[in-house]
Amino acid sequence: MADDGYNAFEIEQEQFDRMADSLELDKSVRDLLRSPIREYHFNIPVKMDDGTFRIFKGFRIQHNDARGPCKGGIRFHPQETADSVRALSMWMTWKCSLVNIPLGGGKGGVICDPHNLSQREQENLCRGWVRQVYKNLGPDNDIPAPDVMTNSQHMLWMLDEYEAISGGRYPGAITGKPVGMGGSLGRTEATGYGVVFVLREALKELEMDISKTTASVQGFGNVAQYAIELFIKYGGKVVSVSCWDQNDQTTYAFFKQDGIDLKELRKITNRYGTVEKSRAEELGYKVLPGDDWLKQDVDILIPAALENSIHKDNVKDISNKVKIIAEGANGPTTPEADEHLYSNDVLVIPCFLANAGGVVCSYFEQVQSNTNYFWPKDEVLGKLDDKMTDAYYAVIELKKRRNIPMRDAAYMIAISRVAEACHLRGWA
Ligand code: GLU
Repeated sequence: MADDGYNAFEIEQEQFDRMADSLELDKSVRDLLRSPIREYHFNIPVKMDDGTFRIFKGFRIQHNDARGPCKGGIRFHPQETADSVRALSMWMTWKCSLVNIPLGGGKGGVICDPHNLSQREQENLCRGWVRQVYKNLGPDNDIPAPDVMTNSQHMLWMLDEYEAISGGRYPGAITGKPVGMGGSLGRTEATGYGVVFVLREALKELEMDISKTTASVQGFGNVAQYAIELFIKYGGKVVSVSCWDQNDQTTYAFFKQDGIDLKELRKITNRYGTVEKSRAEELGYKVLPGDDWLKQDVDILIPAALENSIHKDNVKDISNKVKIIAEGANGPTTPEADEHLYSNDVLVIPCFLANAGGVVCSYFEQVQSNTNYFWPKDEVLGKLDDKMTDAYYAVIELKKRRNIPMRDAAYMIAISRVAEACHLRGWA
């Protein structure tokens, strides 16, 4: 996102350089992996409901496809930038590699605010995005999926446009489709549940009983809601959630000491994850400034909104009680904040492990779509749990063996697999 001075791509490149040094990577593979392999930047003309035309700026950035076709979501956000999409495409490469699925990394974005677009305008935008880039998409090239402010309806519009242009049915070309239209059961829950599968294992490591723990969550969109759902099912208590308020153009945290009631909060939340403030107050929630989500006296923090939410200026506000941060969002913690947390013994489960459940389930969706045979929900979620848990133990084992932060261990596993694939293909 565009934000004074913060640049996710520059940060990601610095992290990569540090990891490449530790792994003693060759110069050729470093040069290849520290930037995206291909980028598409384009204008999308959209006919608006009032008959006028607006031009939106769109991106698809493919970081690396040595291990398989590029894979990753597409975000609709007013502060999107080419550099944020570049960073996100890199995280997708590491994510797919870390959970060991045969896919590479890509990401898409459109600079727009869907709050201000009608459904029909959003449909035109989705179709226009595909028209600009369809030659570079497809089940064998690059497979988009939902992300911030995009959902299964957007994916179906995109797939329909892709199929209309390509003249066939290619259900494996896009994931996150509606169930019954090639979507997988469990895909909606997958990212949030995946966060809690690895969190559950991390709590075992710290000998903490999940049913006696408390959490505070940033965001109340898809990832946050399903993470909360599973965490509560396991017996945990969530005392606060925060979200963006479009009317007031700010964020609020909704606090309840006895634990939030997910069902009642969902009833007063719109499709963008905004909780209706006045109704929350009526239901007994304390409405606090948005930043207060990380000041709570809880065991666990789950940032599940956007990048750059835990940084050097607010990391010191985190309570000493916090033992684990599970990154539901992509890139929520800056390196300076990370260092502070590491020296304070807070276990940070890095984004490209913690939130990998979405892409794992996307991979399952592709397999089901391509074979035209769909699995029951329990089977999908069971396989998801296995993948997430295996990846968690691979990372924690390396972390302990080398006495390094969990993020570094995750990077080392992910990057070395991609580097190896590049070498095997003769690219570096
Ligand atoms: N947008 C999700 C992510 O950042 C899912 C990507 C996918 O399913 O391809 O991981």
